[in-house]
Amino acid sequence: MAKIVLEIQKCIGCGSCEAVCSKFWKLGDDGKAQLLGSQPAGDNFELEVKNIECNSEAVEACPVQCIKVEK
Ligand code: SF4
Repeated sequence: MAKIVLEIQKCIGCGSCEAVCSKFWKLGDDGKAQLLGSQPAGDNFELEVKNIECNSEAVEACPVQCIKVEK
């Protein structure tokens, strides 16, 4: 298992995560990224996954490092 973490306050809404990993990421109407299926956890959103799949690309694509993968 791994945990995908989105630090939403840092997100600048560039859309790169959705571009490289649309299975997990979508740009919301509020101009911030949505981590699909995630739950709020303090200031962040978190999603437990079995396989990180394209989230490694999302981590690399994010220009402000607000996506983290914890293994
Ligand atoms: S790549 Fe990062 S800054 Fe850009 S929309 Fe996704 S989470 Fe936000």
